[in-house]
Amino acid sequence: MEGICPKCSAHYYGWALNNPLEQRCEICGSLLEISEGKVCLKAYQSPFNYPKYEMTSNEIRELIMAN
Ligand SMILES: [Zn+2]
Repeated sequence: MEGICPKCSAHYYGWALNNPLEQRCEICGSLLEISEGKVCLKAYQSPFNYPKYEMTSNEIRELIMAN
């Protein structure tokens, strides 16, 4: 398992990445892009699927406008 931070490009390795609670960048707090081999799962891409992710109202507005 490999996780890459889309913001700061930090790399994380290990099966702990299977745990949604481990799928955050320890440096900047972004959700990691998880890949296993050639398959990129991109799990929990939406902050609304991530129970511990707290958004500011500005972030929510930007997300809605982006969609
Ligand atoms: Zn990061």
